[in-house]
Amino acid sequence: MVAGKRQRDYNFSSGGMDYACQFCARMFRTKSNCWSHEQMHLGNTTCHLCNKVFSFMQALHRHNATVHAPQQSPKKF
Ligand SMILES: [Zn+2]
Ligand SMILES: [Zn+2]
Repeated sequence: MVAGKRQRDYNFSSGGMDYACQFCARMFRTKSNCWSHEQMHLGNTTCHLCNKVFSFMQALHRHNATVHAPQQSPKKF
């Protein structure tokens, strides 16, 4: 077991990037951004329709809304 409570050096020029990805140690400014990124490592940002992998959940959602857009157009075809 590894002690996970390590003091962070806030003098480090992280530019406010206080959240680290637990998979690749990439730093993020907000916890939600970090979480969203970690979903990529968990395979949750993979498009199930075309198997494309995105870096963020938002990117996948935008991809689905554009590339695989359901019939949301208010106009007819
Ligand atoms: Zn990562
Ligand atoms: Zn897709």
